Amino acid sequence: MMSSHRALSKEAAERLTLAAEPWLSCDDCFEQIDGYIERVLAGDAARDPAMRAHLIGCAACGDEARSLLLLVAEDQGIDPGPALSRLTAE
Ligand SMILES: [Zn+2]
Repeated sequence: MMSSHRALSKEAAERLTLAAEPWLSCDDCFEQIDGYIERVLAGDAARDPAMRAHLIGCAACGDEARSLLLLVAEDQGIDPGPALSRLTAE
């Protein structure tokens, strides 16, 4: 069941890699995701192009980030909408 595989062609993956060095592993992403979500909610995620590129390119971490963002936003009484669109904005 890899029907979504076409969403990330080799070419697209290379573009993302080139756009955001150093490329993060999922472990790196997982270690930084809490802080990144806090910055996205605060409107200050522009300094993390590698995190953003990873969340765009990696469906598993992208889903994790969205879930976490919704939880934190609810906890803080923030509207998650704008932050959600910033999370993976190109
Ligand atoms: Zn990942």
